[in-house]
Amino acid sequence: MPTLRRQVAAATAVLALSLTAGAVAIPAVAAPRQAEKTATATGYGGAVSTVDADASAAAIGVLRRGGNAADAAVAAAATLGVTEPYSAGIGGGGYFVFYDAKSGEVQTIDGRETAPATMPTNAFINAATNKPYSFAELVSSGVSVGVPGSLATWERALKRWGTLELGDALQPAIDVARDGFIVDDTFRQQTLDNKVRFSAYTPTRSLFLPGGDAPAVGSVFRNPDLAATYRLIAAEGTDAFYSGPLAEEMASTVQAPPKDPAWVPPAGAPATSIPAFPGYLTTADLAGYTTLDQDPTHVEYRGYDVYGMAPSSSGGTTVGEALNILEPFNLADMPTAAALHHYLEATALAFADRGKYVGDPALVDVPTGILTDPLFGKARACNINPATAAAKPVAAGDVSKYGDTCPVAPEAAARGTDTENISTTNMTVADKWGNVVEYTLTIEQTGGSGIVVPGRGFLLNNELTDFSYDSTNPKDPNRVEPGKRPRSSMSPTIILKDDEPFLALGSPGGSTIITTVLQTILNRLDLGMNVSAAIAAPRASQRNTATVTAEPGFISAYGSALAPYGHKLVPAGDAFTSAAEIGAATAIEFGRHGRMVAAAEPVRRGGGSAMVVRPAP
Ligand code: GLU
Repeated sequence: MPTLRRQVAAATAVLALSLTAGAVAIPAVAAPRQAEKTATATGYGGAVSTVDADASAAAIGVLRRGGNAADAAVAAAATLGVTEPYSAGIGGGGYFVFYDAKSGEVQTIDGRETAPATMPTNAFINAATNKPYSFAELVSSGVSVGVPGSLATWERALKRWGTLELGDALQPAIDVARDGFIVDDTFRQQTLDNKVRFSAYTPTRSLFLPGGDAPAVGSVFRNPDLAATYRLIAAEGTDAFYSGPLAEEMASTVQAPPKDPAWVPPAGAPATSIPAFPGYLTTADLAGYTTLDQDPTHVEYRGYDVYGMAPSSSGGTTVGEALNILEPFNLADMPTAAALHHYLEATALAFADRGKYVGDPALVDVPTGILTDPLFGKARACNINPATAAAKPVAAGDVSKYGDTCPVAPEAAARGTDTENISTTNMTVADKWGNVVEYTLTIEQTGGSGIVVPGRGFLLNNELTDFSYDSTNPKDPNRVEPGKRPRSSMSPTIILKDDEPFLALGSPGGSTIITTVLQTILNRLDLGMNVSAAIAAPRASQRNTATVTAEPGFISAYGSALAPYGHKLVPAGDAFTSAAEIGAATAIEFGRHGRMVAAAEPVRRGGGSAMVVRPAP
């Protein structure tokens, strides 16, 4: 059944005014996309939460037709590749976490991009200066493109847990790519934020800057090239992506990025803008890509079982360690500012350990078990002074010796009377059988590498900028190495209570993903908020740096109460994004008798889309 957006798109298609090689942008008289979005939906029979109404509708359609959560998640992911092309798609990767109602087990798929086999460890070092290039130089380059893992993840998820063929799961996305979607403020603004680099690459400019400008709000954006790419994969399977002409085109695009030779940086942009360094991706890298079936991380927190993504993501270990650090403290009984102080101190400690110990376990000995060991967390908790913020950065813990009794008794905590970057995308899906999917997928920076594969309708990732750039330190677990997966922060999380799903959640946001997921869990479990309020609440992120990144709403609500502890809050946002937001979470909470509350962002990223199969009366 077509969504409102697609009905409108079809009705207005005859008004097409301008055609470009890859896209059609036409004015529409449609209601803006936000009008169809609901941030909270309560009901039965299955639920979904994503950032986008078309993606949620794709998932709900699959669930209504009898598909399960894995089927619906793949349909939604493929649709996000159309409607959120700057955050996710087949040019990227991600992490898929699944609760299997039959076995009662949580299992995961690591679909992270990998460094090409011939990528040298000094790939990010400028030979002229012997210093690392900057992020700005690397991001819009072939050298930052890793071997994409999303499509292989979808195939693996369907094979392990789904019922649909890949081609059937792609169909809703093919429809949206062909018929178009209505451009909203977020899509236009994200295009404008990327206008300089998109204009440098000819195929990207043709697709996303038709007529030289970002598509107008309210116009219909169609991507027939992507529809054709999806149709090819639907007909021939993932081999049509990981081998053959498309693989050859991806490799040659990365090795010789299609920068317009006539392009000049606009006034005000540095002369070094878009150096378009060639990358190392080959057809052999693509043919050799595999996803990994992995056990999740697991910690217990206040009687709940919290499952997360093990390395190559640092999400599960860092969220898990922070929860272990916080377990001895009675956050619920503290004044809010005291609880937030503990939250900020716990994440600084956990980020110190993330930096020292976490990398791709295929090449690095990662102490995952120790980082998620409650005794290690308790030992790290000794470093929290309940009255004063520690000077940052704090030192990493010693995983070789810990477990002494903690001198900080939980009761010593203050007691009271009352109870960056916004790229990537996340989804939560559940079905009527009780299966649950938490899936975070990305092309890294909003707009990825900025490089569209000519004529194919999708952007390539810049995931390899998640490596440490200075690869000269052999002890850095996240240094560049050939065939390695860069450390991620993606934190798809499923929480069980008494062996049944209680809450599933995740978020985009680079390394702030970890703090967003953690803060949302604390809001829900410790601070008395319901799931919708837990997502909507203003956020702050302490990642072991001198200052705390915070949303304006957090600064105005808690800035003065946190100042006496010594926390310095600075507004979120960076040179690459115009939004001062942290994350864009999605979640589903599970109640009794099959009741589900799907929750999305009410405001961030223009608001998300929560839907249920059968709304509660
Ligand atoms: N590349 C990031 C990671 O894997 C995610 C990007 C983002 O959310 O901004 O951690």
